[in-house]
Amino acid sequence: MGLRSRLWVAVTALLLLPVLVTGLVAASVLARQEDDRAGERAGLQAQAVAQALVAECGRMQAVARELSALLGTATAAEVSAALAEVQGDGADYAGVTFADGHSASVPAGAEDRAAHAVACQDRLTAPDLVGLAEQLPGARRDASSGSGPERARTAVQAVVMETVTPTWLLTALGGVGGAKGGGALLAVDGQPVVTTLGDSAAYLRPAVLEGDEQAHGRVVRAEALGPRSPVTVVVATPAPGHARLYALTLLGTVLGCLLVVALGRAVSRALTRPLASLTEASERVVAGDLDAAVTVQSDDEVGRLGRSLNLITAEMRQYLDALQRSRDELRDNLERLGEALSSTHDLEGLVTVVLESAVAAVEARAGLAWVGETGQPFPLVAAQDIEELGAGIARRVVPGVGVLGSVAEQGVVVRGLLGDGPGQLVPGPGDPAGQHVLAVPLRGSTGVTGVLALVGRQDGRPFDARQEEEIRTLASQAGIAVDNVLLHRETERLAITDPLTGLWNFRYLSMSLAREIERASRFERTLAVLMLDIDHFKAINDTYGHARGDAVLREFAMRVGQQVREVDVLARYGGEEFVLTLPETSLEGAAQLAERIRVAVEVPHFGAGAAELPVPVTVSIGVAAYPLHGSTPAALLRAADTALYDAKRGGRNRWGVAAVTSGTGA
Ligand code: GH3
Ligand code: MG
Ligand code: MG
Repeated sequence: MGLRSRLWVAVTALLLLPVLVTGLVAASVLARQEDDRAGERAGLQAQAVAQALVAECGRMQAVARELSALLGTATAAEVSAALAEVQGDGADYAGVTFADGHSASVPAGAEDRAAHAVACQDRLTAPDLVGLAEQLPGARRDASSGSGPERARTAVQAVVMETVTPTWLLTALGGVGGAKGGGALLAVDGQPVVTTLGDSAAYLRPAVLEGDEQAHGRVVRAEALGPRSPVTVVVATPAPGHARLYALTLLGTVLGCLLVVALGRAVSRALTRPLASLTEASERVVAGDLDAAVTVQSDDEVGRLGRSLNLITAEMRQYLDALQRSRDELRDNLERLGEALSSTHDLEGLVTVVLESAVAAVEARAGLAWVGETGQPFPLVAAQDIEELGAGIARRVVPGVGVLGSVAEQGVVVRGLLGDGPGQLVPGPGDPAGQHVLAVPLRGSTGVTGVLALVGRQDGRPFDARQEEEIRTLASQAGIAVDNVLLHRETERLAITDPLTGLWNFRYLSMSLAREIERASRFERTLAVLMLDIDHFKAINDTYGHARGDAVLREFAMRVGQQVREVDVLARYGGEEFVLTLPETSLEGAAQLAERIRVAVEVPHFGAGAAELPVPVTVSIGVAAYPLHGSTPAALLRAADTALYDAKRGGRNRWGVAAVTSGTGA
């Protein structure tokens, strides 16, 4: 059962009870009112009958007085005539009782009907009767008791007019109490005298007379003729049937109930609609739809809850987006890192990717990487977003110099703000002063081979320990990869260089010479070749030892190297023989250089170290030029070799030009 249904039931139950109670109370009150109205009507009728009775009594009383005044002087015949006249006026009965006990009445012989002369008894009480008799003249009291007119004149003792007979009363009572089963009765001293109702005793019970109870299903009201009168008029009217009232009340109650049910439904819907919207949105969020929004606009708790939910989902959405972005970035970085780490030939490419990954991983503002030989200054190999750091960024990191130099020298990790404040790292020359820095060493087989530095965070906060750990891990992998590249480079270098002198070897010479001939041929440029051979080197070895011989070879390479240009290729041809390739050089230029070299080698103190004897060294040189002496490496070298051979034969410590000319040193 949902909240809406429960609320509906609760509201309905709460309102239904008052409606039902109201219905019941209304039915009972209205029924009572109906009863009261019936009672009121009966009471009014009883009152009317009583008043009519009193009025009739008054009228008859007046007639009786008139009659008694007349009787004072009347004869028996006149009495009879008067009585008849009274009856003719509408009285049921008129009579006179004489002192001697005789009486006369109209209709004749109906004296006993005086027993019915009850209606006016409140008016014609005994004192009234006496008073009436006393009003008769004294002469009439003295009248004879004989018959005839005289007796009549003297024998009058009392006059009673009794006109309110059952007939009149029945007529009066017959109209009251309602047509259907109503009726009335007249009681004297609690005894029914005239009645249109059966079982009169039932209507005369005190509780019924006081209106507290009904008798035979009738509403009963009683009215006394006067304050002291024993005469009571009782009117009974059928108790109103309440069927219609009850039906109407029932209908009203049922309608009320239906209204309550509808109201309960409306209230429950109105109250739960925002909750339903809230629940629906929550369920959509739970199902993964973070675009679900609650549309509740109210300022109440539900509205606030809805807004909170919207905020939460918005934040979750942002968080998820950020997570997605960083996951994508991470995947890209990993891919590129993987590619870079596997392609071990390109040092700059590798270091650039490593640096980009590191910058992205810690959201740094800038990053730099220096890579070099252990113990030597590291040149800057890769940089990202360093423009905003401005000047002062070291192109080289010198081990032991500054903060970055300490990373290069000791292999320590540096993390902190570079400045001169308390707890800050004091920057050296080339360090990014005023910046938060996270710098880690790249370690190779020979020691520290590089420094990776991240400068400033995008959110302006300092780098934290977690980021340091991330970069440490990255750097340890990158260090191995860089080492592999350096090793590869070294291997490559060794394959084309001479380990003793550091000069190019024969293999490289062959390649470069072929390339230079090709270039000179294509652009019609000049190219010269010198072949050099140290004189009597065997003797040097023999005299000073093989190690000194090696030292002489190294110094020879150095001295010759100092005489040549960057573009010239100096290679060790083998043993103590060397070849110098001279692009863009004429035969004359080559000859001049040959002479310069000869002089430079001749300079004394060759290979003289501390406590070592100076070695005298000279060199013989053969000169050949493209295309004069050959168009292939082999031909050129052969020509130069021939010239060299000639120079040797010519006495050594000299140079000679192939096949064309030769000359001695100056
Ligand atoms: P020449 O004046 O005719 O050139 O006489 P030379 O003694 O220099 O010529 P030769 O070819 O007879 O001797 C070359 C010597 O150089 C023989 C060899 O032992 C020595 N040699 C070759 N390579 C090296 C090296 O790498 N180190 C040392 N110390 N000696 C070497
Ligand atoms: Mg030789
Ligand atoms: Mg030699």
